[in-house]
Amino acid sequence: MSSTLPPPRENQTFFTVSALEAGILSFPRDLFLAGTPSHIPERWDAPALCFLLRHSATGEYILFDNGIRKDVHRLPPAAQRRVDIFGSFVIVHDAAERVASGGLDPARVSQLVISHAHWDHIGDLSRFPHARIVVSSGTYELSRSGYPADPKSPFAQDLFSPERTRVLDPFDGTWAALGPFDRALDLLGDGSAYVVDAPGHVRGHINLLVRTSADGAWAVLAGDAAHDWQLLTGAATIAVHPAHGCVHVDRELAEAYIEILRALALAPDSRVRVLLAHNAQMWEDARANDWEGFWPKTITSL
Ligand SMILES: [Zn+2]
Repeated sequence: MSSTLPPPRENQTFFTVSALEAGILSFPRDLFLAGTPSHIPERWDAPALCFLLRHSATGEYILFDNGIRKDVHRLPPAAQRRVDIFGSFVIVHDAAERVASGGLDPARVSQLVISHAHWDHIGDLSRFPHARIVVSSGTYELSRSGYPADPKSPFAQDLFSPERTRVLDPFDGTWAALGPFDRALDLLGDGSAYVVDAPGHVRGHINLLVRTSADGAWAVLAGDAAHDWQLLTGAATIAVHPAHGCVHVDRELAEAYIEILRALALAPDSRVRVLLAHNAQMWEDARANDWEGFWPKTITSL
């Protein structure tokens, strides 16, 4: 396993990246962080972040994750019970409204890459009517076997219509190791973005590794690989809640993957930004800085 990511090609294409907040969650500490959390409050507000990408050559727009839908009562009952664990959440604008208020018609988003099908990432897919949905086979299969056939499933069976969904299987032989990642797939064929198998959180969880400059800068759109930045710095570890257990289906795999992200993000002279779906610190820093990095502004590349 190599820790280095591939060098840029000649005239390398890349993406500009903008954050969007599509809902705010109240995170209970006991569910997420253990270790040395004495300075961490019992609950904190964290955003449901999505990331809007614009291709440097074609101008194509890709959205990574879709936040929370406004009509959460339409979620399966098991997902609604999970919603209740968060105690409170706020949705002022969904992802489509954020895209529109930044000056882009949501119908112009051509691909919607979904890290996993939890309710705070899936949003309402019908809000991006012309986007091809991109998910892993694990996510697709969890949904197809879901609610109502399985009344306990938090995933709706009709979530992904086969007509508009591209299903990617990390084990079908077309994915290959890339730098520190075991399995990656070149999404557009030009080396500008790679779908990365990111195991641990839930079956089928994927990340998107995107180039953010022509000369070697990157971002990892990391979804729920880690729920707080302190898990990357090592200031906290993954919690196991006395009643609800661990938020990851496989804690060891989640820890191993966090180790990869940590090495990329915290290396001296790192040119890799790791963007977590629920990074409260990044969100608060942006809020204090006139929403730097939030659509229609863009995140500066390292
Ligand atoms: Zn999440």
